[in-house]
Amino acid sequence: MYYNQTLVKLFALVVTAIFASSCNRIVVRYAGESDLIQASLPAPGKVCKESENYIIDTNHLNATPIRYVRVNFHIMQESDGSGSWNEAEGRKFVHDIVEQSNNRWNDNQPMTLPLGNSTPDLPIPIRIVLQRDPITGEEGIYFHRDDTLCYWNRSATKGPNSLSDRTVISKYQVGIDSIINIFLIEHDPDSIGSPTYGEPKMSGISFINSIKLFSMYYQGHIVKYTNAGVPFTHDAFYFSKLLNHELGHCFNLNHTWNWDDSCDDTPKNSGCWSVTGVPPCDTPNSNNMMDYNISQQAVTPCQIGRMEYNFTKETGGARQFAIPYWCEYHAFERVVVYRNENLEWNGAKDLWGDIEIRDGATLTIRCTVSLPEQAKVIIKPGGTLIIDGGTLTNRCGDKFEGVEIWENKKTDQIGKVMISNGGKLENMVNYTTITTTE
Ligand SMILES: [Zn+2]
Repeated sequence: MYYNQTLVKLFALVVTAIFASSCNRIVVRYAGESDLIQASLPAPGKVCKESENYIIDTNHLNATPIRYVRVNFHIMQESDGSGSWNEAEGRKFVHDIVEQSNNRWNDNQPMTLPLGNSTPDLPIPIRIVLQRDPITGEEGIYFHRDDTLCYWNRSATKGPNSLSDRTVISKYQVGIDSIINIFLIEHDPDSIGSPTYGEPKMSGISFINSIKLFSMYYQGHIVKYTNAGVPFTHDAFYFSKLLNHELGHCFNLNHTWNWDDSCDDTPKNSGCWSVTGVPPCDTPNSNNMMDYNISQQAVTPCQIGRMEYNFTKETGGARQFAIPYWCEYHAFERVVVYRNENLEWNGAKDLWGDIEIRDGATLTIRCTVSLPEQAKVIIKPGGTLIIDGGTLTNRCGDKFEGVEIWENKKTDQIGKVMISNGGKLENMVNYTTITTTE
């Protein structure tokens, strides 16, 4: 017994010694200009502008972190507070619809069309966050008593109560440069009463930085009946599908059923709300978020790529609405390029943490990759970073830590940095440039 314990201790000591000495053979330092190996690779072309290069990679989820999009809500009422939710109900409804919107973003469904498809059902890296008022610090849920602007009149082609008029937005918006302002507006009750107006259906319109959603209060309060005669009212989960559809427009998605939406994985279809058995609605129905249908819970890889590309654009996209978590260091959000893996990034990235390139692995960067302050690229012995026309930088006005090169003194293996097609390293704390004296 005594011998066994001694042997175990001795063995542990030897293992520790070997481990310690092997660690001592690794030398770590930051790469400088003199470490860059110039390479001559074929020009990568305009890969950074192709949205297919922005589709989420499920083997490296940290390479496409979730975009948290700022939203606030405006509930339009008559001057006496009638015509929509009261404050208590309105706040509850907003909290519920935000939660259900995120449940939908978090639960992408497989596409029903085309029949027999094998379109991947990928995670959608988007969530929404209810903002606080920048001045008062109160929740961003606003109630506006305004007899002129409180209603939408579907028959109006112009004027403040027409579909695409922005008067209500410009009058009441808060922080529209960085927050998507969502207006909850009802149909004009006088029009609802008229025989020619038709049902006050739920609908919406996106203006990129703002959204108008119509008739959610009405549709949430009238009692409907299922085919089996069971009474029900629509809930926030149901309404959140329209909210997400309009947000899809804000993030550069188009309708799919009757439109070339620049995606090959969203087939045109007959635009049926549900399967009724009556042609053309007698075959399986679209469930895509950007069609009008009862589900609206499927987003294709191409659509995910289009949205993510839109978030990486400095201007003309949706970047300004996302909380810039990519400007804060998150130690547990490291991207690991695994041993002997060959990973190519043909789209821009906003990473939350470090990049680690392991032995035998290669990472090729062809677009702009942003690292937060304190983050670094770690190239282990035998790993290679290739900056092929891309830029490794910080897009927050800060500096990231630098590129760490690991060298194994025993095997002479060293992490390598190769540069081609004008690839750049910039905005780093640790980087020594070569100075030449005349
Ligand atoms: Zn639409």
